[in-house]
Amino acid sequence: MTIVTRFPPSPTGFMHIGTARTALFNWLFAKHHGGKMLFRIEDTDRARHSEEAVTALINSMKWLELDWDGDIVSQFEQRERHAEVARELLKSGKAYECYCTPEELSQMREQAKKEGRPVAYDRRWRDSKQTPPAGMKPAIRIKAPLDGASTVHDKVQGDVTVENTQLDDFIILRSDGTPTYMLSVVVDDHDMGVTHVIRGDDHLNNSFRQDVLYDAMGWKKPVYAHIPLILGPDGSKMSKRHGAASVEEYREMGYLPEAMRNYLLRLGWSHGDDEIISTAQAIEWFGLEHIQKSPARFDFAKLESVNAHYMKQAGNARLIDLAAPFMGVEIDALARERLLKGADELKGRAKTLKQFAAEGAFYAKKLPFDYDDKAREILAAGSAILAELEKALAALSSFTPEAIEAACKDIAQTHAEGKLGKVAMPLRAVITGTTVSPSVFHACAILGKEESLARIKAGRR
Ligand code: GLU
Repeated sequence: MTIVTRFPPSPTGFMHIGTARTALFNWLFAKHHGGKMLFRIEDTDRARHSEEAVTALINSMKWLELDWDGDIVSQFEQRERHAEVARELLKSGKAYECYCTPEELSQMREQAKKEGRPVAYDRRWRDSKQTPPAGMKPAIRIKAPLDGASTVHDKVQGDVTVENTQLDDFIILRSDGTPTYMLSVVVDDHDMGVTHVIRGDDHLNNSFRQDVLYDAMGWKKPVYAHIPLILGPDGSKMSKRHGAASVEEYREMGYLPEAMRNYLLRLGWSHGDDEIISTAQAIEWFGLEHIQKSPARFDFAKLESVNAHYMKQAGNARLIDLAAPFMGVEIDALARERLLKGADELKGRAKTLKQFAAEGAFYAKKLPFDYDDKAREILAAGSAILAELEKALAALSSFTPEAIEAACKDIAQTHAEGKLGKVAMPLRAVITGTTVSPSVFHACAILGKEESLARIKAGRR
């Protein structure tokens, strides 16, 4: 049997990190079994539908490097097929027409609420001999079992049972002929050959109703795995309130996709105490049995440390490409060459691409450049030192980090009571325009003598 999973997001405008984790688990499970992951957009809510929201989902999947098999399926496009299944169920007596008016239904809802009953609709049209009211289009309702109990054998939650008295004869086709979500999901999953449904546990209750439809059609049910939601650090459902909740925001903060995958994997799945798990390793190890049953809390510090790890592992050329949009300055061939020389040091310090960019942008900057406020202050106070630096560095015949450092030490001896920082600080300010950077001696050596001297001159003015 080929394992087929699916990723069926509703296009809400962005991809929540919980949705991304669901996609990751489905993807890993399919890859582990040499199966397929299908991508379906649950776009039946036309009032709120937007193509940009679909594009946002696709872009997030691409950024996370989670690929899917076949074309993206639009649930809305399948609506005729969904309606056909509803009519089939009607014909086979597994469903029935209901002619209730909205007023009658709201009365029933109110009554049920008053009496604390979970099922509002009183099934008055089920097996009814009544003549349907003329000129009225019925809704089609499924016949849910009236007694007994139903059990979902969930791979994460275990066996979950409900009394069938909790299940209602829910609508599968509205009176306007449009299928309901519950029907569409089941028909699509069946038609797409889905074998495993791995999704958030907010859908666990839907499984019972969806199983009613599988049974009515005589279709094989999928294996279910309902994974706990992701919580914010304070234990409530992860949302914007806690900080970034969408994949796009993490991208914009400068996280690497492989770090995001590793972090999201560990947020709800474990392999012993392993924290750093490469994607290849994850594919080899992933299974439903180690998905945690209790919800995980998002930990920003941990994500950052995982990202720092992957920054160090990443190839320098790739890091420069990924960091370039964060630099705010054009990366020409010369800048690229310098950044390649400086990348090992930059990536050893940086927790994110943003930090890599902020601390490496000086390699790409061209004179005259803006100094930040702190740098400007240091430059104003250090003009005597800068004059000495200009002289000493101009006299160097070999422009190596060691030689530059030695020259700075000499100046420190003669002009700053031996304090190297008093010399290195203005040098850093003048070379980088900032006060935070990798070793300024390395930086000067990478920039070369001519550029370093030009920057010192420019900063002295
Ligand atoms: N469209 C649903 C959601 O985005 C997923 C439904 C499912 O996985 O069955 O939450």
